[in-house]
Amino acid sequence: METAARTAPAAVIVAIDGPAGTGKSSTSRAVAAKLGLGYLDTGAQYRAITWWMLSNGIDVNDATAVADASAKPVIVSGTDPAAPTISVDGLDAAGPIRTQEVTAAVSAVSAVPEVRTLITDLQRGIAAEAPHGIVVEGRDIGSTVLPDADLKVFLTASAEARAARRSGELKGKEAGDLAATREALIKRDAADSSRKTSPLAKAADAVEVDTTDLTLDQVIECVVTLIEGACAERAGVTR
Ligand code: C5P
Repeated sequence: METAARTAPAAVIVAIDGPAGTGKSSTSRAVAAKLGLGYLDTGAQYRAITWWMLSNGIDVNDATAVADASAKPVIVSGTDPAAPTISVDGLDAAGPIRTQEVTAAVSAVSAVPEVRTLITDLQRGIAAEAPHGIVVEGRDIGSTVLPDADLKVFLTASAEARAARRSGELKGKEAGDLAATREALIKRDAADSSRKTSPLAKAADAVEVDTTDLTLDQVIECVVTLIEGACAERAGVTR
């Protein structure tokens, strides 16, 4: 028989960061669902603004053009972990943001400081309004967006494991060979880690979890246990 959902105290904020293919999305969604928290995929927001730029003929490699247009699209994220949504100007963007074209362009767009300021403000607003708390996944959540999060987790995995997972996800859609996927991941991580404004980085107080040899269920259980520990600590401090 299913046991009752495990619960976390009111408004717990969890930041889950790490490079592509470490299992951030699957882990974050499952943990949020288990604990009755909201879920925010911040990568989807950067993909959404990138899709808008591409659809509106903006040269994504022209940082000034991207900055000038950045306030135009209206990006709305739905935070139910059972059915997260993303829309741009009222259009469902869930499908179009996963294309190879958007994936190849997103690092250039997300490196533009004006884009980051806008999206960061959006993320902070969503986190502040989450009634029961939220799991926010991305690259700079613990380091920049929500530095006071109750728990910060930084997921890692070997490049081989990450490429294998990503190829599996893409199977039947746009999967190239494993080597090409690995190359593309490494290139995107390098761009995300080396940008000037809030790069992909582990916050000093984040707990690092290497997921290379762990199953998804093991990673989920590990993060749930970390959240319960962080909540118990918080309750102890405030008592
Ligand atoms: O998580 P996902 O792979 O969908 O993220 C897509 C891109 O969005 C990343 O490669 C990165 O350029 C950008 N991103 C970011 N900061 C975040 C989340 C994603 O710059 N917090």
